[in-house]
Amino acid sequence: MYLKSLSLRGFKSFADSSTIEFAPGINVVVGPNGSGKSNIVDAISWVLGTQTPKALRSAKMEDVIFAGGQSRGAAKSSKVTIVLDNAERRLSLELAEVAITRHLSRSGESGYELNGRDCRLIDLSELLLDASIGRGQHTIISQGNLDVILDAKASDRRLTIEDASGIAKYRRRQDRTARR
Ligand code: ATP
Ligand code: MG
Repeated sequence: MYLKSLSLRGFKSFADSSTIEFAPGINVVVGPNGSGKSNIVDAISWVLGTQTPKALRSAKMEDVIFAGGQSRGAAKSSKVTIVLDNAERRLSLELAEVAITRHLSRSGESGYELNGRDCRLIDLSELLLDASIGRGQHTIISQGNLDVILDAKASDRRLTIEDASGIAKYRRRQDRTARR
């Protein structure tokens, strides 16, 4: 599974509709300070269901909507779509590609779509959790986070690795069974 593309419209500094294509393997985004590199990461985190504005470097969720620039007004809404390659069926859907969309308008309207159809966050979360991605997972490691992992005690670091590799859920099940 890999991220094939990211489309943004009205998200942070991405006022116009734009699509970024990714290739399998390692992709590197380069650009001057303030050009929007971290906003790309924020967009991926947002579309995967992040609920805390702070994790997106924003004070409130509405702040992810393009706030206007020198020559243009603020956007009314934000929309982000990612397309994931699902050839190996890591996501339990019989589809070779899975598109996930999140949108939010200043009027407060918001929601998610799975392959163009409205869906609930809970459905999306379950789908992503089974593939070990999504919010709360270690899919995205920010600069600050990296220091926390490197400075952690060996036992805490192990928990992080277990979470990232998707075996944490088995440990939780094992603990539950042992308590019975
Ligand atoms: P650095 O190399 O310093 O880490 P970067 O490429 O990661 O920079 P970002 O943090 O992604 O840069 O982008 C910051 C820019 O995004 C700032 O210019 C900021 O004004 C702009 N920005 C953030 N939120 C919004 C918004 N809601 N509307 C318009 N612009 C925004
Ligand atoms: Mg940055």
